[in-house]
Amino acid sequence: MSVLAFAEQRNNTFRKSAFEAVSQAKILADQLGKTISAVVVGSNVENMAAELGKYGASKVYVVQDPTLSNYSTEGYTQAVCEAVAKAEASIVVLPATAMGKDLGPRVAGRLKAGIASDVTGLTVEGGRLQITRPMMAGKVFQKMIIKTEKQVISLRPNVFRATEASGAAKVEVLSVSLNPIRAVVKETRVESSKKVELTEADTIVSGGRGLKAPENWDLLTKLAEALGGAQGASRAVVDAGWRPHEEQVGQTGKTVSPQLYIAVGISGAIQHLAGMSSSKTIVAINNDPEAPIFKISDYGLVGDALEVLPELTKQILKLKGQ
Ligand SMILES: Cc1cc2nc3c(=O)[nH]c(=O)nc-3n(C[C@H](O)[C@H](O)[C@H](O)COP(=O)(O)OP(=O)(O)OC[C@H]3O[C@@H](n4cnc5c(N)ncnc54)[C@H](O)[C@@H]3O)c2cc1C
Repeated sequence: MSVLAFAEQRNNTFRKSAFEAVSQAKILADQLGKTISAVVVGSNVENMAAELGKYGASKVYVVQDPTLSNYSTEGYTQAVCEAVAKAEASIVVLPATAMGKDLGPRVAGRLKAGIASDVTGLTVEGGRLQITRPMMAGKVFQKMIIKTEKQVISLRPNVFRATEASGAAKVEVLSVSLNPIRAVVKETRVESSKKVELTEADTIVSGGRGLKAPENWDLLTKLAEALGGAQGASRAVVDAGWRPHEEQVGQTGKTVSPQLYIAVGISGAIQHLAGMSSSKTIVAINNDPEAPIFKISDYGLVGDALEVLPELTKQILKLKGQ
């Protein structure tokens, strides 16, 4: 019996969340006395598979085919389930990314397994997984166990650490005769390939309606750049067309868990908190001392964002000697 991690890759590059999934699978396998393996799915991905050994995988299964170069629910489900059978896996760990959120339930359905999605805490007690995950848009956290023999778990990105271990992985290419894939992705358009991916960023500076006008956004960009972080936005400014939807944080946007989240001119509506409340340190800048965002903040600064942002950026650059 083993724990199998799904290592997500895009354009033949592993996502950070792939390493988090493998590292966490390794911890669980050690605690449960099981072996750890991983699966990589795509086209020409054999050469990248061995890298997962650094994160604790002792065996890496590869399912590769030109039809798997773009993600498809059908193709990837089949590939992962083949690896589950080969590895005799009882636990499948995958990231709760856009891909993992789509793939996890389908894999669970195929395996007749229980699933816990967007998991933020995992321990082993009495040989059993004890799972913590947010419910009701993050208002409460549920503690749960899965009772089925097979279990599927998706991990919220950036919550679990990717830890390098010493070790090498054996790579095994599985020959799978894939069923025809009925829905084919023809093209993927990446809006901004150079930016730090929001869900993987360690630092995020997010702005809301308190920035007053899109022309002022540059002040926020400069702070994000000074900190080497990514930029986020509230839905209000995305709906107003100030920022692209890919930057939206919240219930109908992205879920992020950076080390540092700075909310500038954001009131702290429950739908926004749903996407960022698991951030490690939260800083709020708002001119209203009663703004709800302060209730979940570790540090708060009451002031006009348009005055605070340039000053903060200046001081950070000074500290960095720039
Ligand atoms: C189904 C549904 C889904 C939703 N999904 C999301 C989601 O995914 N993400 C999301 O963000 N929202 C979401 N919303 C919208 C959410 O309810 C709020 O309307 C939105 O988050 C408010 O954005 P905001 O904080 O930028 O604006 P506001 O609520 O208008 O807040 C602006 C803040 O800026 C402060 N401010 C004003 N001037 C200044 C200044 N000069 N300096 C500093 N501070 C200043 C104000 O005090 C205020 O606190 C959703 C709503 C619904 C109904």
